[in-house]
Amino acid sequence: MIHYRSLNSCLREQFGEKVYKLALDGGFTCPTRDGTLDTRGCIFCAGGSGEFAVPVGNDVNTAIETAKKIVAGKGGKKYIAYYQSFTGTYAPVDRLRDLYAKTLLHPEVVALSIATRPDCLPDEVIALLAELNRIKPVWVELGLQTVHESTAQYIRRGYPLSVFEDAVRRLHETGVAVIVHMIIGLPGETLEMMVETARYIAKSGAEGIKFQLLHVLEGTDLAQDYRNGRFCELSLEGYIRVLEQCIEVIPTDMVVHRLTGDGAKRDLIAPLWSADKKQVLNEINRAFDRDLVQQGRRWIPDTA
Ligand code: SF4
Repeated sequence: MIHYRSLNSCLREQFGEKVYKLALDGGFTCPTRDGTLDTRGCIFCAGGSGEFAVPVGNDVNTAIETAKKIVAGKGGKKYIAYYQSFTGTYAPVDRLRDLYAKTLLHPEVVALSIATRPDCLPDEVIALLAELNRIKPVWVELGLQTVHESTAQYIRRGYPLSVFEDAVRRLHETGVAVIVHMIIGLPGETLEMMVETARYIAKSGAEGIKFQLLHVLEGTDLAQDYRNGRFCELSLEGYIRVLEQCIEVIPTDMVVHRLTGDGAKRDLIAPLWSADKKQVLNEINRAFDRDLVQQGRRWIPDTA
């Protein structure tokens, strides 16, 4: 039984073979770090979630070749250039054009994926993404994390839902695909609240969703709150319970880009069970088989 529409299977359909991601670091920062909105960053963020990303500097091709060596053992001839670190559209549009156009020129790069924030997508940047999307597919990944305002304030996300909705609408008007990140296990959120976030993302019309377990990492303000007993981490069973329900409320055509994430192991404080990602994925798959999880089973489309 196929429980969900995985990214791997979609890429095989689209490109005829397995496609690997190259994690790249374009040297960006974020408005929640550079003082525009805040200087502390999001409460859980230890450095832009780009631990494994290769810095591009002034030489995109060398960075791509270096990143290819990191996935070399896995083989592959087609790659997605994934600008993962910090806010991938937070720079002057000319700099973005230079970086991303050069990236797409690489013959083995078949698509471009850019992680960013919805409040960092001015019209000229969206126009650029649309232009690039006519050369090769471009995806924009938006870190929504939660639909709940109180949690959004606690994590210092820095923008309201209306900004997210506006960004998704403008990206879709130009044909750029949207992938939305949500975090499972944020302090104070119940199972119902997390499923509500998944339902909201499902209704947003995004093409893809990425699930991420909340990692408590050394050096973050979240770690401070964790040590002060402000919240408890999820158990593996608890994580799977939430994940199963989230998968079932999203539509069958939404691509599941990730079931959980990789934390920086040396900085991981909790949950320690998440350090063994292979084991976690095995447990998730076992539970999906046992519980006959089926994406879309509880998806309720708008009738209006
Ligand atoms: S989570 Fe993203 S937006 Fe927030 S500080 Fe980290 S890189 Fe910046």
